[in-house]
Parts: sequence; structure tokens; C-alpha cells
Amino acid sequence: MALMITDECINCDVCEPECPNEAIFLGPEIYQIDPGKCTECVGHFDEPQCVQVCPVACIPLNPEHIEDRETLWRKYRRLTLKVEPGEGGAA
Ligand code: SF4
Ligand code: SF4
Repeated sequence: MALMITDECINCDVCEPECPNEAIFLGPEIYQIDPGKCTECVGHFDEPQCVQVCPVACIPLNPEHIEDRETLWRKYRRLTLKVEPGEGGAA
């Protein structure tokens, strides 16, 4: 699953530089997570780094992006290899 940032975010800027996938960005009001880039840190760390550093615990799982670990691994490989979707991202 990708994670998401709720409106409890206080825009403290702490999580953005911690994301190994550059999935976190500042939206119109608060920080947001691109579900196409968030791997729950699979491939990089044992725990989601943004959740570790967020002082207000406002980063839950995104219920609209249910993914199992294998899917997260494929996403990680796709991001790392810069392979476009549909071009062998599972390799
Ligand atoms: S869980 Fe990891 S990959 Fe996903 S947004 Fe947080 S730091 Fe980035
Ligand atoms: S660490 Fe938490 S409060 Fe700070 S910008 Fe990120 S999501 Fe918002």
C-alpha cells in the first residue's frame, strides 16, 4: 500500500527529504504522497521513513492504494530501473 498524508499535517517539512523515492511533495495546502512512487519504503528501509519522522503521526496507509509486498517490490524495481509501466517492470 502507498501511504497518505492527512489534513493534520502541519507542514513541518521533515518528511519530504527523508523519502527515498521522492514521493512526497508540497501540495496546494499540505504535503502529499504520490501513490505511484510510494513503496512503503520497501526496497530501501524496513520501516516507512516518513512515518518515523512525522511529529504528528498523520501518515496512515492509503485505503485507495491497496498493494501487497510483491507489488511494492515491483514498483520499487520499476522506479529504480526507470522502466516504464508495461515494459517489464516485474523483471
Ligand atoms: S513510506 Fe517511504 S516511500 Fe512512501 S512516502 Fe513515506 S518515505 Fe516515501
Ligand atoms: S512530517 Fe508529518 S507534519 Fe511534517 S510535513 Fe510531513 S506529513 Fe506533514
